[in-house]
Amino acid sequence: MTVHEERDVVIVGGGPAGLAAARRLAAAGLRVTVLDEQPELGGQYFRRPAPEVARVWGEHRPEGRRLVEAVRAAGVECRTGHLVWGVDDDGRTLLVSDPAEHPVRLRGRYVIVATGAYERPFPFPGWQLPGVTTPGFAQHLAAADHTPIGERVLLAGSGPFLLPVACSLLALGVQVAGIAEAGHPYRP
Ligand SMILES: Cc1cc2nc3c(=O)[nH]c(=O)nc-3n(C[C@H](O)[C@H](O)[C@H](O)COP(=O)(O)OP(=O)(O)OC[C@H]3O[C@@H](n4cnc5c(N)ncnc54)[C@H](O)[C@@H]3O)c2cc1C
Repeated sequence: MTVHEERDVVIVGGGPAGLAAARRLAAAGLRVTVLDEQPELGGQYFRRPAPEVARVWGEHRPEGRRLVEAVRAAGVECRTGHLVWGVDDDGRTLLVSDPAEHPVRLRGRYVIVATGAYERPFPFPGWQLPGVTTPGFAQHLAAADHTPIGERVLLAGSGPFLLPVACSLLALGVQVAGIAEAGHPYRP
């Protein structure tokens, strides 16, 4: 296993949260490394569309590109294609696979975990039928790829994420029949 030099801060996750932290910490003079398993930085919110889509629709959320540029300009070491799969007993040494799937050990005086959230689909009768999908997938298609998931959509689930999904669908001319919210997030 390769042992790399110790960094001041190692950040797991190059989405909006990890990038914002990296920019601040690097500006304060710390040596920062960002690790992300994806081939590009940006995470879910600033995910780049396919080049063919970008050619037709232009840049998706250009503030994401500007944030990545600012992070790189601040001297942050960015390692994409690096999957963090464990932490050693000291709690500060990350066990990582590089893009060639070689094991790497990377130690930070401080470690920030900014690995984001993920959808937790709740199985119900019919959830695998054609035309049923997760809000995240509908959002990915709509926001990044300008492709509506359907002509008329009912959103169901819980939490504020349903709202940006509804907005993205509406912006594409989709008829949003309603939002079925399982919780009570908007109760005063
Ligand atoms: C498909 C989808 C679409 C979304 N669209 C919107 C939207 O339009 N508006 C909105 O407000 N919110 C949206 N969200 C919610 C979104 O998660 C947050 O808004 C925002 O991206 C969170 O930023 P973050 O930096 O915390 O996490 P993320 O953006 O999720 O970034 C986390 C990063 O950590 C990396 N990572 C995770 N685990 C590891 C590991 N073990 N090793 C290395 N790297 C790792 C991931 O590759 C990822 O790049 C969406 C979520 C999904 C799933």
